[in-house]
Amino acid sequence: MERTVHAPWMTAPSTRAVVDALTAGGADVRFVGGCVRDALLGRESSDIDIGTPDEPERVLALLEGSGIETRTVPRGVAHGTVTALAEGNRYEITTLRRDVQTDGRHAEVAFTDDWREDAARRDFTINAMSLTADGTVHDYFGGRADLKAGHVRFVGDPATRIAEDHLRILRFFRFHAWYGKGEPDAAALEACKAAAHTIPSLSGERVQAEMMKLLAADDPVPALNVMQDAGVLDQVLPEAQGMAHLARLVAIERKVAQPDPIRRLAALIAAAESLAGKTVADRWRLSAEEGARLTALTTPEFAPAPDLDGRAQRCLIYRLGPECFRDLVVLEWAKETNDENEVAWRSMLETADAWEAPTFPVSGEDMLARGIPEGPEVGDLLRAVEDWWIEQDFEPDHAAMLERLDALVGTRR
Ligand code: ATP
Ligand code: MG
Repeated sequence: MERTVHAPWMTAPSTRAVVDALTAGGADVRFVGGCVRDALLGRESSDIDIGTPDEPERVLALLEGSGIETRTVPRGVAHGTVTALAEGNRYEITTLRRDVQTDGRHAEVAFTDDWREDAARRDFTINAMSLTADGTVHDYFGGRADLKAGHVRFVGDPATRIAEDHLRILRFFRFHAWYGKGEPDAAALEACKAAAHTIPSLSGERVQAEMMKLLAADDPVPALNVMQDAGVLDQVLPEAQGMAHLARLVAIERKVAQPDPIRRLAALIAAAESLAGKTVADRWRLSAEEGARLTALTTPEFAPAPDLDGRAQRCLIYRLGPECFRDLVVLEWAKETNDENEVAWRSMLETADAWEAPTFPVSGEDMLARGIPEGPEVGDLLRAVEDWWIEQDFEPDHAAMLERLDALVGTRR
């Protein structure tokens, strides 16, 4: 195995500037965590984490002394983390730490200058490597070999590591979904099973972050199946009754859409009781936007069917918006167990791409100009004209709609 590794971001000017600033104080500074793992795989990294034996105040002083913008969050400095912003790139700089006390949810940490100690508190061997700017990999626990073998393995004894932080159960399945090959580590799986009941003590936000990343894996289904057999999925998502639906959705996404964790979650829970979307959105503290999307996809007001004609499709695209329409097309398609309607479903996706829904041209001002007083009647009339316009396949122009409006007002008086 080669001893060194190089990724493009390692030599980017912004990375150099941050590393040089931190090294100027004499510290041994290294890249840590996910970016090292991803560099070894030749994958791009979204965030770059840097470890240093220097304490946060010194990190802040060194960065500011070099003119690099910094950010800190409340408790970040106490916890040892400073963010550096350079040329639009973010670097999280964390002082080497060891856990002093843990309770399954939070850790009290102490700073250290021992790289091995910092690696030992990390969750999995593949996440516990560090990398110096010259490309030297420091691998205290066999992470490199595990990465190659697709073996997601805890650093240390799985049961002990899970007792320190129960979130590691979910992280185990998340990393297995992303980097695992073949059967999951047997000892880890046993420990996850035994501790599954501790999952409800975790905060919704932390669960959400792990589950969304798990659902974003290339194919999350094998890992979810293992979670189900281990009794873990029931603790985190008892609504997950649609594994086969999700499996078909993943296959369809490969042909026609980008993977999408909310859409995938919708497939997984759509067969559960009708409020499942809202229940999960609340429990996992999804953003208002994501929650609304999940609800719209699990309990749609109108759902596409393969026999819709062009006019009916345009009507749905207008009512749902093209994004939601596309999501529902692939979700409905994924409910089918054969490919009989593939041509029809694909043509609906093409319609959604090609057709731009017109804007409804009648306004409240038009109504007032016709002497219709403000009030609930305005909304009713507008909706009636809009329904008619949609029914006419958006053909009637503004003048025709005003005529229709006059006729409606006439019949109501
Ligand atoms: P991703 O690319 O998906 O963000 P990552 O490896 O960066 O993957 P993060 O959750 O961002 O994962 O965590 C960064 C690093 O911090 C991990 O690689 C791991 O070394 C360490 N880590 C994070 N959470 C924990 C935890 N709960 N227990 C132990 N170590 C952790
Ligand atoms: Mg990360």
